[in-house]
Amino acid sequence: MTKVAIVTGASRGIGRACAIGLAADGFDIVVNYAGNTAAADEVVALIIALGRKAVAVKGDVASEADVAAIFAAADRMGTLAALVNNAGVVDKAQPVVEMSTERLRRMFDINVMGTIFCCREAIRRMSTRLGGKGGAIVNLSSIAPRLGAPGQYVDYAAAKGAIDSFTLGLGREVANEGIRVNGVQPGLILTDIHASGGIPDRVEALRDTIPIKRGGTAEEIAEAVRWLVSDKASYAVGTLITVSGGR
Ligand code: NAP
Repeated sequence: MTKVAIVTGASRGIGRACAIGLAADGFDIVVNYAGNTAAADEVVALIIALGRKAVAVKGDVASEADVAAIFAAADRMGTLAALVNNAGVVDKAQPVVEMSTERLRRMFDINVMGTIFCCREAIRRMSTRLGGKGGAIVNLSSIAPRLGAPGQYVDYAAAKGAIDSFTLGLGREVANEGIRVNGVQPGLILTDIHASGGIPDRVEALRDTIPIKRGGTAEEIAEAVRWLVSDKASYAVGTLITVSGGR
């Protein structure tokens, strides 16, 4: 039976590139997204054109009920072998002192709790200790934990810092259960996320801070994710790959 991969936030940006890349690597794909149905349907069509199966599942990773529905869709497709926790958000640039409680909760609910909810569901299915066949999990972090993002989104940096610790700890926790958990820390990547934070030209504005002097592409991040998912990364456990043009 074909192996199934769930990619959260797969309608656009890095998640889209991961979904299409993993389909090219032979996975059937659950394309999760938050609200942009047209974009998700386009990704599904591209995957089907590659000869693989795909289904779009709308759902908020911060909702346990939605996460259950995402995994139920994977169960209907086959055996879950990979999970890419890519769904993530920023918010408008502002100092911590001005951040609302609602913003802070959303930042951690989606970026941290969403990843943890999805990992828990994946482990229940993948763990050889629980009768599963093993698998690979890749969590999208950022270089923000190292930079702190002062004046912009310290909450986002802290949430991604939590992802780094979680990835390390979970990677060690389930390594002997046939599951490899790893992470990727992208630098400034050319996606819509910067516009969603109110700074559409953020990558261009910070170009001089990037040693390679350009923003990265979603596909350049997906390459690292695909490697970590693949058997070529069979000895990578609880590790974080930085792909940031040197930043
Ligand atoms: P993006 O272009 O803004 O796309 C976000 C994707 O996540 C969309 O598919 C969106 O769905 C989905 N999404 C948003 N909230 C969701 C939720 N609550 N539940 C499920 N899906 C949700 O983002 P990106 O730049 O590709 O970033 C992807 C990941 O990489 C994030 O974790 C981000 O923090 C991380 N990252 C990005 C950069 C960068 O420079 N771009 C740098 C470091 C780390 P809809 O299309 O339906 O809205």
